Amino acid sequence: DKLGIALVGLGGYSKGKLAPAFEFTKFCKLSGIVTGSPDKAKEWMEQHNIPEKNVYNYDNFDTIADNPDIDIVYVVLPNAMHADYVIRAAKAGKHVICEKPFDISVKKAQAAVDACKAAGKLLQIGYRCQYDPFHQEIMRIGREKVLGDIKVIRTSDSFFGVNSSNWRFTDRELAGGGALMDIGVYCIQGARYSSGEEPVAVWANTFNTYPGKMDGMEETITFTMEFPSGAIANCTASYVARADELHISAEKGNYGLEPGYGYAPPQGYMQNEKMDFERHNQQAVQMDAFARNILDGTPVIADGEEGVQDMRVIEAIYKSAKKGGKRVKL
Ligand code: NAD
Repeated sequence: DKLGIALVGLGGYSKGKLAPAFEFTKFCKLSGIVTGSPDKAKEWMEQHNIPEKNVYNYDNFDTIADNPDIDIVYVVLPNAMHADYVIRAAKAGKHVICEKPFDISVKKAQAAVDACKAAGKLLQIGYRCQYDPFHQEIMRIGREKVLGDIKVIRTSDSFFGVNSSNWRFTDRELAGGGALMDIGVYCIQGARYSSGEEPVAVWANTFNTYPGKMDGMEETITFTMEFPSGAIANCTASYVARADELHISAEKGNYGLEPGYGYAPPQGYMQNEKMDFERHNQQAVQMDAFARNILDGTPVIADGEEGVQDMRVIEAIYKSAKKGGKRVKL
């Protein structure tokens, strides 16, 4: 039988991408919801055939512990609420998926990892790209050094959002930062998994050009990551431009993805050859992989430690930006 997932937070990503993905999942299904809005609860119950006993609000959420229909809690809330809900879910005896970024600090992310460990529950971060065949091919080319050693990575994830009133553009407390927290994390991920290395140092600068917007948060950030092999990644995340790319230059040639991280199906190339893989619903594949980890007792690919490591890199990047772009060691 399929494992039951409860979505916590019924905003854009839950409604637009996760709920529709259950049409394609084989090992899990949408069984419950957690929402502060009675109107949304009613709409989702009708649309997704969810019984009232599987509907929770943020106050009675912890009683989900007593509900055998729910195996997995999927946290899809604003960034700064992630760790708290992961911890509450683990304490309620549920396995947990947590959206990216893990939270807004290493400390909170680590506390969430520790809580899952203490409860004996599995944890996955919603890094859907790690489950995608195009991204996995990028990892393979690097790992097998098909084009020799990687030297320079150029990656960007950017969209035009600066004028929106959503919390990610307006509420520093909830977002934890600007473009880096939301989309720069894809560049950190892309650089880490294409090189297969962990950065030893970073340099960063932030930019704001829309007066009165992005209250205390960066609109655009550029950062460089230096890897132990000497490979360098040049990264950009911006809320005022459009870009979605992961380009890798190795000794004997180049390869990459464009688009890479967004919802558009990835396109890949190596030298002059186009990559050709079957395209799956990324969210379905990611959730199914986690369900199989639970059923088979296998390790989670995008586990909590992955999320904590990205938070370490994010903290170093912000530290560098604060120091006007000085090199910060990791
Ligand atoms: P959203 O603003 O559309 O939804 C957030 C939901 O949280 C809303 O339904 C809101 O009502 C609810 N909420 C509960 N308490 C809240 C509070 N105190 N303040 C504000 N909202 C509150 O955001 P989203 O785009 O769905 O993003 C949610 C999370 O998912 C973010 O962490 C984001 O980074 C992540 N996300 C991941 C992907 C991906 O591709 N993996 C894509 C989009 C979003």
